[in-house]
Amino acid sequence: MSDFKLLINGQLVDGDSTMDVINPATEQPVAQCARASKAQLDQAVAAAKAAFPAWSKTTIDERRKALVAMADAIQANIPELARLLTQEQGKPLDAAMGEVFGASAFFRYFATLDIPARTVQDDASGRVEIRRKPLGVIGAIVPWNFPLILMAFKVPAALLAGNTVVLKPAATTPLSTLRLAALVKDCVPPGVLNVIADANDLGAAITAHPDIRKISFTGSTETGKRVMAGAADALKRVTLELGGNDAAIVMGDVDPVETAPKIFNAAFQNSGQVCIAAKRVYVHESIYDAMCDELAKLADAAVVGDGLEQGTQFGPLQNKAQFDKVLGYIEEGRKDGRIIAGGGRQGDKGYFIRPTIVRDITDGSKLVDEEQFGPVLPVIKYSDASDAVARANASDYGLGGSVWARDTDQAWDLAAGMDSGTVWINKHADLQPHLPFGGAKFSGLGSELGQEGLNEFTQIQVLNMAR
Ligand code: NAD
Repeated sequence: MSDFKLLINGQLVDGDSTMDVINPATEQPVAQCARASKAQLDQAVAAAKAAFPAWSKTTIDERRKALVAMADAIQANIPELARLLTQEQGKPLDAAMGEVFGASAFFRYFATLDIPARTVQDDASGRVEIRRKPLGVIGAIVPWNFPLILMAFKVPAALLAGNTVVLKPAATTPLSTLRLAALVKDCVPPGVLNVIADANDLGAAITAHPDIRKISFTGSTETGKRVMAGAADALKRVTLELGGNDAAIVMGDVDPVETAPKIFNAAFQNSGQVCIAAKRVYVHESIYDAMCDELAKLADAAVVGDGLEQGTQFGPLQNKAQFDKVLGYIEEGRKDGRIIAGGGRQGDKGYFIRPTIVRDITDGSKLVDEEQFGPVLPVIKYSDASDAVARANASDYGLGGSVWARDTDQAWDLAAGMDSGTVWINKHADLQPHLPFGGAKFSGLGSELGQEGLNEFTQIQVLNMAR
């Protein structure tokens, strides 16, 4: 028995076993949570499959109402959900409140969309209409860095299109998702939304399940490749939102004092555990020293601590494995560059790492070439802007990127030359629900959000009649 139950066929049920969820700020359990067995996954998929025919026949207005009701339920419970999110994920409470509110806003946003049929011919010789039909059961798989907002990229879009859903949060952050499921469960008929939790052991079974028609996956590139392979046999649709190694290119005409805090925030928010964080910064040689100094000042002043404590800017790394991995990247930085702020853990309890700035480092170092996904930022010197773009593009990843400049015409052209799904100019990591978001190259397949993201939860059908 646990307070955090699975949602299967409209019922909150215990898992066949339980698991502890650890607070990364204290390394102590926050709560026990239901853990689904493979048989319970099968029950969830069977419930979603059984609910699909009726749900897919509801009107879009009925589905919109359900999404708005879910948004209301989430919004009415922001303090409780945010506190849980901070306790399991580590992020500061105000950021957690923002994430929960954002999730409710994304449900509300999708409720404003439509999936209209398009008439392409209607004349004496015939009528042709392009329609979009739901796919069936969607498997939605979410990572641990933004459990609720990333869930809200998927679930409302899938439901609005008339699909049913089996949702699985990451093993280390299931609590806020399970609690949210309990809050919204009565907004839809039983089986339309099912939520299970695992110990990182049911992903492959979801991906290969014969009764799931599409996998909407957010996580690492490595796992994304396994998802694609696992989905091949049943020819499932996949949308993959994967890792990134976003470059921020800073031109020589910016004011370092004004720009450094924005870059710092883009790199360190959520303690660097953001798919679209600025993960390597290329700075023009004319302002390189000044930018490094400003970034180091900000890192030195950063308040790292328990997200429940007031004034905390940066929480811990979310889990021990990621904590160890990031400490390893700091050592790569020490070997290949010069650490000018931070450089290791803070305290001896909790997975805290001081924001770390590494200068005099360049491409070819693991810290520059790989996705560190944590609070350590390499700052790289360049002299020629087109060379900086070429170095930014010399990566398997292509999720986001940014160019920072006073001369925005030049910045616009440089940005267009970056091989990434999104490139920002004079900002970074600005996601909005109406803009499609997706990665190039190894950063993913397809997109989420916007009308484009919604359409990915549908199958095109052409009705073509002779007259
Ligand atoms: P991960 O790939 O280890 O896990 C993600 C999810 O996949 C978890 O729910 C996990 O249980 C599940 N999973 C594990 N094995 C599976 C399998 N064989 N089949 C299907 N699912 C399986 O990723 P993570 O470490 O939790 O998240 C960090 C990564 O996610 C980073 O690389 C980050 O850049 C990326 N990310 C991408 C985006 C984006 O939108 N592009 C957003 C956030 C995070």
